[in-house]
Amino acid sequence: MVSRRSFMRKLGLLGLSAAIPAIDIQSMHHASDKKSVRLNNMSVQVDSHWDVIVVGGGPAGCTAAIAAAREGAQTLLIEANGQLGGMGTAGLVPTWTPFSDGEKMIYRGLAEKIFVESKKGVPHSKEGDLNWVPINAEHLMSVYDELVTASGAKVLFFSRLCAVNKKSDDTLDSIIVANKQGLTAFQANVFIDATGDGDLAAWAGASFTRGYDESGTNQLSSLCFSIDNIDMYDFSSNTHLDTNGDQKSPLFDAVRSGNYPLVDAYANVVLVGPRLLQFNAGHMEVDTTDPWEISEAMIQGRKKAKEYLRALHDLRPSTFGNAQLVKTATVLGVRDSRRIIGDYVLTGDDWRARRTFEDEIGRNCYYIDIHGSKKPAQRYKKGDSHGIPYRCLTPKGIRNLLTAGRCISADSEIYGSTRIMPCCLVTGEAAGMAATLAIQDARNDVHKVDVKTLRNKLRSEGQYLL
Ligand SMILES: Cc1cc2nc3c(=O)[nH]c(=O)nc-3n(C[C@H](O)[C@H](O)[C@H](O)COP(=O)(O)OP(=O)(O)OC[C@H]3O[C@@H](n4cnc5c(N)ncnc54)[C@H](O)[C@@H]3O)c2cc1C
Repeated sequence: MVSRRSFMRKLGLLGLSAAIPAIDIQSMHHASDKKSVRLNNMSVQVDSHWDVIVVGGGPAGCTAAIAAAREGAQTLLIEANGQLGGMGTAGLVPTWTPFSDGEKMIYRGLAEKIFVESKKGVPHSKEGDLNWVPINAEHLMSVYDELVTASGAKVLFFSRLCAVNKKSDDTLDSIIVANKQGLTAFQANVFIDATGDGDLAAWAGASFTRGYDESGTNQLSSLCFSIDNIDMYDFSSNTHLDTNGDQKSPLFDAVRSGNYPLVDAYANVVLVGPRLLQFNAGHMEVDTTDPWEISEAMIQGRKKAKEYLRALHDLRPSTFGNAQLVKTATVLGVRDSRRIIGDYVLTGDDWRARRTFEDEIGRNCYYIDIHGSKKPAQRYKKGDSHGIPYRCLTPKGIRNLLTAGRCISADSEIYGSTRIMPCCLVTGEAAGMAATLAIQDARNDVHKVDVKTLRNKLRSEGQYLL
């Protein structure tokens, strides 16, 4: 498979814009109840044509791009920020949720490779540790850089998908991206939506649901942050900072005192390096696809981070007396957003039944963890897991589009479990592989991929499948 870009590069034509066709934008995304403006019949130049385009370079987008490129597809990964890793790097999420079901590793294939490489950045984690392993975001970012570029996939940073152009009702022609060149179009045979929020699929007209209750309320968001220069001796002899479990964390005292109104007693605190703690802390109710609300939440989140430090400085001076806030995340920690409806919707009942599917492309064993819901968390016993069908990755009614990561087809309940990074790595790899199979064997139709072949290929790359 030869992309237009590589073909043109060989001919030395890149940069000759007259040789590149332009297309008319068909579907600029805008809220339908608002006033709109016309773009003066604006046409957008086509930059290049690819076999596979992955939008979003989080955990799912990285494994999708690696898998597609590894299978021989000319692959482009488009990312809004200047770094790969999504929530695990730009979002400063401090840990991997467990990779094991208590007995064995569940998330394998590329997920396992990334996990093993990631651990090298946190030498204080023990060799055999599979569960709640800390993340050194800077290290993980370069792990993704290296693995994605080594696969042959091309990365385009600081480029945000902003519109979708269709060939027909059920087929995408190109996507429109905004970056320092203004608006540019990119064409592909198959597209993968790994934006977390399902931007590509939603703007292509796929159906979606969202939220954990009937009114569509999103799970709570958090802006993660790092605090440096803690007293290591005091921290290691007096580690109770997390607010799940017992009430020993000083953060409960902070809330009870009424002196720290922005501290809300949600905190998961992880030592990610020498004297360096990373906080997944502070809950905020945000409509996670509303840019105005996200903007407010970023400002509020930074205020919260300062207040957590002030409280800990006052209430645990032995650990935090000399500590400083060194970084708040570059992006809002979004737990919940659109879930794109696929050929199958995975459900909470599937989770409880530990269901196995003929077309499963991986398994998941995380508990049902819904931030904001009053319902108690549901947990598996050791050794339990459920399958993730390929049909959750194929949005209904669109021929050449796959989803990967947290926007796959799931109900609000099981979403509390499938949204975690190890699971996103697994669905990303399957989507990347399926995209190339769709191109090779199914005339770009992702619904017609031979699932037996896909599963055999995943198995040969080490994925855990029943
Ligand atoms: C506060 C918080 C704590 C969490 N804790 C844990 C934990 O402890 N362990 C764990 O394993 N998981 C945890 N999770 C869940 C996990 O981090 C995410 O669900 C997971 O990262 C989702 O992966 P993804 O690849 O689907 O999306 P993301 O990680 O969100 O990545 C999506 C990527 O797409 C890019 N993008 C989005 N829109 C566009 C666009 N229009 N154009 C171009 N690029 C775009 C983004 O910039 C981003 O890089 C947590 C999540 C949050 C928010």
